[in-house]
Amino acid sequence: MCEFCGNLGLTHLSRPSGGGSLDRRRLILGGAAAAAAAPFVAVSTTGAMAQSDPAGAMGPSKVRAFAASSAESRFAPIEIDRRAVGASDIRIDILYAGICHSDIHTVKGDWGKPNYPTVPGHEIIGRVVAIGADVTKFKVGDFAGVGCMVASCGECENCLADREQNCLKGTTFTYDSPDKISGGVTYGGYSDAIVVSEKFGIRIPPGVDLAAFTPLLCAGITTYSPMQHWQLRRGQNVGVVGLGGLGHMAVKLAVSRGAEITVFTTSPGKIDDAKRLGAKNAVLLSDAGAIGSLFGSLDLVISTAPEAYQMMPVINALKLDGTFVNVGALGQLESLNGMMMAFGRKSFAGSMIGGIAETQEVIDYCAARNIKADIELITPDQIDRAWDRVMAKDVRYRFVIDMSAGRKA
Ligand code: NAP
Ligand code: ZN
Repeated sequence: MCEFCGNLGLTHLSRPSGGGSLDRRRLILGGAAAAAAAPFVAVSTTGAMAQSDPAGAMGPSKVRAFAASSAESRFAPIEIDRRAVGASDIRIDILYAGICHSDIHTVKGDWGKPNYPTVPGHEIIGRVVAIGADVTKFKVGDFAGVGCMVASCGECENCLADREQNCLKGTTFTYDSPDKISGGVTYGGYSDAIVVSEKFGIRIPPGVDLAAFTPLLCAGITTYSPMQHWQLRRGQNVGVVGLGGLGHMAVKLAVSRGAEITVFTTSPGKIDDAKRLGAKNAVLLSDAGAIGSLFGSLDLVISTAPEAYQMMPVINALKLDGTFVNVGALGQLESLNGMMMAFGRKSFAGSMIGGIAETQEVIDYCAARNIKADIELITPDQIDRAWDRVMAKDVRYRFVIDMSAGRKA
C-alpha cells in the first residue's frame, strides 16, 4: 500500500526512468582512479578510495535495515535487497535518515495496510559510492539526498511539469510502494544503502550540516512548496498549525521570506519555542478567545497537524481570499462551514511534498541561507523511543537517525 495515495486508490504503474537492467559493461566507476585494474571504485563514507568493490557497491547486495513487522511491533534489524546499479542509477551509503510522522502513519496502517516488514524513511542523505555509465548529476564521493519518491512515469502531464509527486500513473514512493524495477515493495532510509535513479537523487552542497539538512528532504519541501505556489510574500501574515517537524520548518522558511507568523499549537510548552524560531505570535488551539481575536488577519495557513481537528476557527482567521493549506491530516477531515467559506471567499487546499526540481530548489535555498532543521540525533536502537516521543508531540523538532552508528565499515 502506498504511503500517500493508498487512500486515493491510485495504482502504481510507474516504470524506471533509467535503464533498469544491469549491463555490467555500461557501469562505470567514479573518480579518476577508476581505470586500470579495478573493476569498480567505491568510496567509503570517510572518503577513502578503494580499488575494489568490497561492499558490493555496483552489484546487487543485501544491506542492513530497520523494520517494523506489524503495527504494534518495535523496530528490529533485517536484511533487505538493493538492486545492482543500473546505467542511470546511483548507490548511496546512507548517513542520516529523518523520522517523519508519515513513517508512523504508514506502519500503524492509518492509510491502509502496509506490506510488512516495512522499512520507513524518506528523508535520506548519504554519500554516493557508485554511479552508472549514464549518470551526469553525481560523481562518486558526492553527497546525495533522497526524499519521498524514487520513480514516476516521466511522461504524464504532471511529470512533464516537474510534479512527479502527482504522477498520473502513480508515483513510486520511497517506501512501501510497489517497486517496478526490482519487484516487491520499496524500502526506505532506515537502512544502510539505497540505489536510486539519479533523477530522483538530490544534490547536497558540500559544507552543509548534513544531519540537520536531512529533514529538508520531506519536512522542508512539503512546507516550501505551498509557500511558492501561493506566493507567500514579505509582510504577509501566515499561520502555521502544529509545531513539529513540518511546522518548525514552515516557521523557519516563512521567516526567511519576511512573513509574519502566528503558530497554532496544542502544547503550552512550545509557545516560547515558536517565538524563538521567529514567530510573532503563538496561540493555543484550545484558546477560542485568542483565535477569535485573529479573525480576518491571515493571508495563508499551512496546517501540519497529523490528525483531523476543528479547522474552522483557524480558517475564520484568514482574510478575504485567504487559503488554508492542509498538508498534515491526510485522512477524513472535520466538516467545514459553507457559509463562512463563502462569506470570506476562502479556499481550502491540500499539497503533497514537491517535485524533484523544487526539492533541489529548497535544498539550494536553505544552503544559501543556512536554514536547517532543529534535530535530535539518535542511533538506530533509539528509533522506538523516538517514535513514542513523536506521537506524544514531544519532538524538538526532528529526530534524525545516524545510520552509520553500529554499521560495519
Ligand atoms: P510531527 O513532527 O509529529 O508534528 C506534528 C505536530 O502537530 C505535533 O508536534 C503537534 O504540535 C501537532 N499535533 C499533533 N496532534 C495534533 C492534533 N490531534 N491536533 C492538532 N495538532 C496536533 O509530524 P510531522 O512529521 O511534522 O508531520 C505532520 C503531518 O504531515 C503528518 O500527518 C504527516 O503524515 C504529514 N505529512 C504530509 C506530507 C505531504 O506531502 N502532505 C509530507 C510529510 C508529512 P503541537 O505540539 O504544536 O500541537
Ligand atoms: Zn515525510
